[in-house]
Amino acid sequence: MVHQFETQLSYAQALDEQDELKHFRERFHIPQADNGEPAIYMCGNSLGLQPKSAAAAVAHELEQWAQMGVEGHFRGETPWFTYHKAFAEPLAKVVGAKPDEVVAMNVLTVNLHLMLVSFYRPTATRYKIITEAGAFPSDQYALESQVRFHGFDPDAAIVELKPRAGEHTLRTEDILQTIAENADSLALVMMGGINYYTGQVFNMQKITAKAHEVGAVAGFDLAHAAGNVTLALHDWDVDFAVWCSYKYMNAGPGGVSGVFVHERHAENTDLPRFAGWWGHSEKERFQMKKGFKPMYGAAGWQLSNAPVLHMAPYKASLAIFEEAGMSRLTAKSRLLTGYLAFLLGQIEHIKIEIITPEDPAQRGCQLSMIVENGRQVFDYLVSNGVIGDWREPNVIRLSPVPLYNRFEDVYRIYEILTRFKQ
Ligand SMILES: *Cc1c(COP(=O)(O)O)cnc(C)c1O
Repeated sequence: MVHQFETQLSYAQALDEQDELKHFRERFHIPQADNGEPAIYMCGNSLGLQPKSAAAAVAHELEQWAQMGVEGHFRGETPWFTYHKAFAEPLAKVVGAKPDEVVAMNVLTVNLHLMLVSFYRPTATRYKIITEAGAFPSDQYALESQVRFHGFDPDAAIVELKPRAGEHTLRTEDILQTIAENADSLALVMMGGINYYTGQVFNMQKITAKAHEVGAVAGFDLAHAAGNVTLALHDWDVDFAVWCSYKYMNAGPGGVSGVFVHERHAENTDLPRFAGWWGHSEKERFQMKKGFKPMYGAAGWQLSNAPVLHMAPYKASLAIFEEAGMSRLTAKSRLLTGYLAFLLGQIEHIKIEIITPEDPAQRGCQLSMIVENGRQVFDYLVSNGVIGDWREPNVIRLSPVPLYNRFEDVYRIYEILTRFKQ
């Protein structure tokens, strides 16, 4: 659908009026900018806003603890013993999986390591990992240290995908080509579902199919993809995925992470894993016996009992996702981000190059842009109540989020930029 966007405030306000998701904004706390006005918050790619229901959710668990002590594990609305189970259904919908394929546990980089323990199983001849150059640093460190742990040299084992000269993003054909070129030595393709810097969405389905074709495993870090774009991890046949809950998922700083393990691996006891008691067969967990027997599916990778106080806001946030639905959210997101791209394109007195792909299938909420005198423009935006982020060396990222951003917010950025003077 091609939209004839317009550059008037009244037009943006009309889009807000027609927006069937507009009332969700009231469910979130909107931070205040320095000027005392509600901030124009464009940073959901870094830390999603707090649902107003989060505080009550945490208070509820504190109350359970106060009232019941240890009995809270077995009593109350959502007993802590099975607390993680309340996440399976709603999380499965967000990432396109079956409930048994997902679990909420730990934090993101920890889960990435746990998945690599199971799914990066290098041999003398098949030991390489393909990843995107400029992957998020934590992912780079995780891969590098895993490679070393197995006695390989990261420079030899990690193959980085780089954009062609003069381009900022990767072409799917080049990714597939690199997989084919490393067919005999490739153990794993492990990359972001969306690159955090450029905002590019990768074609996970094609990448997974190609990895499998050459006998390798495919896993994705969905930190920037979960709750942002349509995912179909089960149908795409992805082996494993990890994500965090504090970006588009709005579960609060350092929030509990999520993991996907494809059904194919649900009962595969050949996979090595680092085990803990919460991954052990639920029926026998308190028999305290020797011999680890994993639960079926992703739940079998759990280590510890649920950090309930940290998971309560995640649960509250998932209820909002259930209500809004990913398909309505992504439809609005395309329009909202498309509108931002359109308005930025109308600005002539500042040189702005959007490096995020124009193709809506290759981007989510986020637009990354290289701006002439970028730091100065960024500081100007901040002083005018816009909260975005600056990523070294030279990118401004702005992410209008369909749950709480309005078309008017996007319009205000345009209006502020038109008043910018060098
Ligand atoms: C945000 C982000 C992280 C952060 O990792 P934590 O373990 O949650 O601190 C890691 N990887 C990617 C791709 C990210 O976007």
